[in-house]
Amino acid sequence: MATTAAEHRLLIDGDWIETGDWLEVRSPYSGDVVGRVAKAAKGETKRAIDAAERAMREPLPAHKRAEILVKVAGGLGRRHDEVARVISDEAGKPMKAARVEARRAMSTFTFAAVEARKLAGEMVPMDAAQAGEGKLAFTLRVPIGIVGAITPFNFPCNLVAHKLAPSLAAGCAVVLKPASQTPLSSLLLAELMEEAGLPAGWLNVVAGKPSEIGDVLIEDDRVAALTFTGSGDVGWKLKERAPRKKVNLELGNATPAIVCSDAPDFTVDRLAANAFSFAGQSCISVQRIYVMDGAWDDFVAEFVPKVEALKLGDPADEETDVGPVIDAGARERILEWVRASGGELLTGGETTEEGLIRPTVIANPSPDDKVQCEEVFGPVVTLTRTRSLDEAIELANSTRYGLQAAIFTGDLHPALEAAQRLEFGGVMINEAPTFRSDQMPYGGVKASGNTREGPAYAVRELTEERLVVIQL
Ligand code: NAP
Repeated sequence: MATTAAEHRLLIDGDWIETGDWLEVRSPYSGDVVGRVAKAAKGETKRAIDAAERAMREPLPAHKRAEILVKVAGGLGRRHDEVARVISDEAGKPMKAARVEARRAMSTFTFAAVEARKLAGEMVPMDAAQAGEGKLAFTLRVPIGIVGAITPFNFPCNLVAHKLAPSLAAGCAVVLKPASQTPLSSLLLAELMEEAGLPAGWLNVVAGKPSEIGDVLIEDDRVAALTFTGSGDVGWKLKERAPRKKVNLELGNATPAIVCSDAPDFTVDRLAANAFSFAGQSCISVQRIYVMDGAWDDFVAEFVPKVEALKLGDPADEETDVGPVIDAGARERILEWVRASGGELLTGGETTEEGLIRPTVIANPSPDDKVQCEEVFGPVVTLTRTRSLDEAIELANSTRYGLQAAIFTGDLHPALEAAQRLEFGGVMINEAPTFRSDQMPYGGVKASGNTREGPAYAVRELTEERLVVIQL
């Protein structure tokens, strides 16, 4: 049941403003309006950049930044139920998963606070070269400048936290454009940051038409870095259009897992749960499972009933495992990809009376089927019978994506071989490829992106080294 149909203003320069125009946020499950958000356009985005510029003229010391970040983590803890409910309402994310996301956001802010306190450059060994004799040198880590942050719908709290918290830790002011379908969690985070003592201008939130806001962020030279999480189509174009800015991209994946004949007993449970949590709408949701010949029959016999036992329904219900996908357009696209696949449909492939896609398992589709080589971003998983580790690795690598992958095996050798040969930003061994703990370096290769998040890594991306040389 939707609980928040309130009107929400935007935070610009420390003021909560209306714009006369409203964005309606609807529950992907019921279609009810769960909130209205003031809609920004070019003018508000420019004002937000002006405010960020003014804020950065008076840098906040690291201890103050750390203190604010810790207080936000505390606020997320105190208001846990509310945060999880807002995530669930606007994204249609089952409460189980929304609670995990809300807790992870606490972790993200906490780790960012540590990074704020640790931020330092390094000594340069000057007398290692003759030219450096008699000199002392070190680097300072200085904030890169104003950060333009653009975020997707699927983790409306924690992925926003992964932009805001490291930016503040690095000493950068932010102009945030949240996803139009899920701006409420961002505004709640902004409220928590303000309550924690963040001065005016350090965080500005502009929800609204993406191309208008995006154009201002791209064209304004005062925005030094764009940090984007979302689809490759949008992300790579942003990078092309902003050649003089730092553009950090966290993009999609078609996530593979390899199951060897000696895989541990928990493999099936891990993979079934992580293929369908939030209806597969995670960039590292299990999508392609390559099962070795010897394990195939048992794996299929165990996996399909596990998938069929997942509870579909209202995301507000604490027992629900699988809820809706974000909108009708996504639902139609996913079903179309399933229908177009030449593989054998083992379960699912249809919708419930409420319009939810039943968790779908397809066996042995062709490598060119979209469900196999593109990012499904829905409750669909493919199982492919493979004859050797070489074949499984080759197939796992045969997409344009490279975010995270996994192998399940009882033997160290195939595990380490896969770790070396899988072309992904992260390889999990005996853990789902969906695993992420928020301090990890997280990010992709190939079409999946060009950066690493996790506060320590994001802070590195959002600061620059300045060399200081002293003649003694
Ligand atoms: P999306 O459609 O690319 O949208 C992402 C953000 O970009 C939204 O805020 C969107 O605004 C904005 N946007 C769209 N067009 C724009 C433009 N021309 N200029 C500036 N901004 C623009 O992605 P999504 O559907 O929300 O998210 C799903 C995708 O995100 C998947 O591909 C998933 O794999 C990826 N993802 C990656 C990671 C990761 O860490 N690697 C994590 C989560 C998700 P509107 O909402 O207003 O359209």
